Amino acid sequence: MKNLLTVTNLTKAFDETGPVVDGINFEVREDEIFALLGPSGCGKTTSLRLIAGFERADRGSVAIEGKVLESPEDHMAPQERGIGFVFQDYALFPHLSVIENVAFGLTDIPKHKRNVYAEEVLCRTGMGDYQQRSPNELSGGQQQRVALARAIAPKPKLVLLDEPFSNLDALLRETTRKEVRSILKKAGMSALLVTHDQEEALSFADRIAVMNEGKIEQIGTPEEVYYHPKTKFVAQFLGRTNLFHADATGGSEVSTSLGLMSLNCNACGKVLCSIRPEHLTLEEPAGQPPEEVGTVVAREFKGHDITYHVELNDEKYLVHTDNRIIFEPGDAVVIKPLESAVILEGGN
Ligand code: ATP
Repeated sequence: MKNLLTVTNLTKAFDETGPVVDGINFEVREDEIFALLGPSGCGKTTSLRLIAGFERADRGSVAIEGKVLESPEDHMAPQERGIGFVFQDYALFPHLSVIENVAFGLTDIPKHKRNVYAEEVLCRTGMGDYQQRSPNELSGGQQQRVALARAIAPKPKLVLLDEPFSNLDALLRETTRKEVRSILKKAGMSALLVTHDQEEALSFADRIAVMNEGKIEQIGTPEEVYYHPKTKFVAQFLGRTNLFHADATGGSEVSTSLGLMSLNCNACGKVLCSIRPEHLTLEEPAGQPPEEVGTVVAREFKGHDITYHVELNDEKYLVHTDNRIIFEPGDAVVIKPLESAVILEGGN
């Protein structure tokens, strides 16, 4: 797939406290949904605003199909960039009807055709029956879809989505997310989503850049960043994980508190490892030495699965199993890895 958006060494500081966006590099490919994921304050929105043209870059550049839109020397006005936006608060014009909101930006189309086209886009986003309503007569999910219709109506090559689902309740958020993903895919549009919600990024995006303190720590598919995190931050930010130290000797196996364990690479020396709770399972002890036998200290029943908290050699481990209750707090257990552990860079 060809690259559509290319962000190179993009850097922005607001004051002398240092850059809030610190030399980030990534590409969004054609037809790709890409997420910038990170905690509050890590610089996601500022990155989006630089790409949209609402902030000036100190260093680096933003280009679409090789044309530079933003750099210290170049600044194309936001409305000329061919980019659509959906903001967190939807920002619909309150005094305009739904159809007028969508038709508003269609300045390239002759006036008499704007409403016909706006109606078509509203039907595509499931809002065809609400054209004459005013935004304040719509639910959060409906406003969200109108905002999306307005953003995609001028057929931008790229749509920027800044936490667009955060005002919706959990159930509506999940269904709206699925709908929006399918609308974008059908329209063949690329999208760049900003979110602090790892579940949202994992389920919505084709690839994710995980951001921390202005820098990108890892870029990969949801499976890559979740199961093969490169750093401690990525391992912990993407969900619950088990971190533990091991003395690697250069082979693919190490001796750990969990017994002999395979690693994802041949490292040497003291290393920090991560393994997801669902990649561990529990068994009843069967003659293992005492240092390999742990104790269940708590159990979280979550409907479709169970998380056991297990103490082993003064360390706590989390183990996800299916929802059959087999062990009780106080039971002696042996933790068995089902997959290799991942070595984290620079962590100890
Ligand atoms: P959130 O998820 O909370 O929206 P974020 O990752 O999107 O966070 P940004 O909004 O990009 O983070 O903010 C990054 C940092 O830059 C924050 O410390 C913020 O206070 C600071 N910042 C953002 N805009 C400005 C501004 N106009 N002037 C000064 N500081 C700013």
